[in-house]
Amino acid sequence: MSGMIGVVGSNMVDLVTTIGRMPAWGETLEAPGFAMGFGGKGANQAVAAARLGASVMMVTRVGDDLFGGDVKNNLERNGVDVRHVRTAPGAANGVAPIFIDPNGENAILIVKGANDHLSPADVDAASSDLARCGLIVLQLEVPLETVYHTIDWARREGISVLLNPAPANPDLDLDRVKDVAFFMPNQTELALLTGRETETVEQATEAAQLLLARGMGTVVVTLGGDGALLVTPDGVEHLPPVRVQARDTSGAGDAFIGAFAAHFMGGLALRPALREATRYAALSVTRSGTQASFAGAAEFAGFDP
Ligand code: ADP
Repeated sequence: MSGMIGVVGSNMVDLVTTIGRMPAWGETLEAPGFAMGFGGKGANQAVAAARLGASVMMVTRVGDDLFGGDVKNNLERNGVDVRHVRTAPGAANGVAPIFIDPNGENAILIVKGANDHLSPADVDAASSDLARCGLIVLQLEVPLETVYHTIDWARREGISVLLNPAPANPDLDLDRVKDVAFFMPNQTELALLTGRETETVEQATEAAQLLLARGMGTVVVTLGGDGALLVTPDGVEHLPPVRVQARDTSGAGDAFIGAFAAHFMGGLALRPALREATRYAALSVTRSGTQASFAGAAEFAGFDP
């Protein structure tokens, strides 16, 4: 089996404005600060895996604007194979305008832009290269028909799929994705997909078991500061969190998925790969930023919480 990872998914540019307060409609207000960052769930997961030394290819659509080229360069700088990163003619890049007030509260807009143009035809155009991958990683920031098409294709090719059903989307048809090798929601996504409460470990376990009853094989629920839950027909295992002083948890889920994919494709078995994922995500929450908080392999090797 090839160790290459193919990420079919989104990219975004985070536009982070620190504000004193939100302007009212019609009002113009000065704000104290602004910064940009590369994001998007697909790109974040690809970058995390590549920084850990995995061989990663990304299939995504960037904007026909100022940001498109930078997004592609950023992926390339991080060691991601960008031959299937293509421009969506006439479309803006995906962006996330984020507003952070003095209390640290945030308000976020997601403009999917070029991500909405990632089509089944793009997956077909990349299929001869995707066929060299041992694992395909998907999220839900691109059209659902592209997600379903990729899963159908991977099934025919016999390639394993990891589906991170994020952001939470009530339109996801579980019957069309139930045979993925790994289904990895967080508590919010699991609650939405099952209609159950998932606050406690017990509740999350019961909800994940509903997914098993619908035919899923391996469900991994990320539980924020409570670690993660591995639920399979063989049983339930709680992977404890790695105790750290959390500073910024944005991107923790992406760090977890990228690190799991990298370690699993690097040859670790399921449980050790999940334990490495909890360690990598814990390191990421001790630092600010999303991709900025993702460590490289050498740095991660030295992480001893
Ligand atoms: P998401 O970012 O999708 O909401 P979670 O919040 O569930 O994902 O976090 C993903 C993983 O990151 C968790 O399973 C856990 O391993 C790790 N993590 C998140 N928050 C913390 C924390 N405060 N302390 C230690 N690990 C954390």
